[in-house]
Amino acid sequence: MPASLSYDEDVLTARELYRFYRAGEEETLALRGVSLRVRRGETVAVVGPSGAGKSTLLACLAGLDEPSGGEVRVDGVRISHRPETERARLRAQNIGVLLQSRNLLPHLTVRDNIRLAQRAVRGRPAAAAGELLEQVGLGQRTHALPRQLSGGELARAGLAVALANSPAVLLADEPTGELDGETEQLVLRMVRERAADGCAVLIVTHSAEAVRVADRVVVLDDGRAHEASAPRESQEVGDVCR
Ligand code: ADP
Repeated sequence: MPASLSYDEDVLTARELYRFYRAGEEETLALRGVSLRVRRGETVAVVGPSGAGKSTLLACLAGLDEPSGGEVRVDGVRISHRPETERARLRAQNIGVLLQSRNLLPHLTVRDNIRLAQRAVRGRPAAAAGELLEQVGLGQRTHALPRQLSGGELARAGLAVALANSPAVLLADEPTGELDGETEQLVLRMVRERAADGCAVLIVTHSAEAVRVADRVVVLDDGRAHEASAPRESQEVGDVCR
């Protein structure tokens, strides 16, 4: 991490997040007062059983969804409780999002997907699309359409799009879920490199490998979060991923 960056600086903060879903008479409390912070240069893994609220949390942190209560700040700027267009602008400037559903438009080549993401943010020198694709090992596939890529290549292209604007925050939902071991290692290495450059990284994951590279682990259970110590031993990693 560059010496000018301080580890103590919180880049992403969530304070007392609540998210209720109402369907007819039924109300689901997906988040019940979740607070967390991710510092510059830090990688935080969020783990927890299915239905615990992980995707809801990530959507609220990314400004893709609005929490029913509480607030999200990125670099001190509130992103929650704003009109959708403002959230989209703040997200494009500050947050790279890597979702399970992939973040590529199907009718654009991978290079044009990166350029489109970059066009959303003006006035900032952007890394060349070709350079980003080289970094994820897709230098030969710049003109490919998403449907022409394998699952592993899609994941790497998605990562290149998420990193297109050198975001202060990288949010990833199961980024290595369907990948072979080698691609998983490549994606995790790139994520770690971004953190080393000062990015605040949060990964929702079930992967023991992803948990192993995290500095901190937050366990989400039934909409509540608690911190677990970063596990280093295989047994401990297995325990938090269960
Ligand atoms: P996870 O990602 O940990 O599997 P989710 O955030 O997807 O958990 O879901 C948390 C809870 O919120 C679950 O009970 C789920 O059924 C509910 N939920 C998620 N999205 C919606 C929605 N759009 N409408 C109603 N309930 C939802």
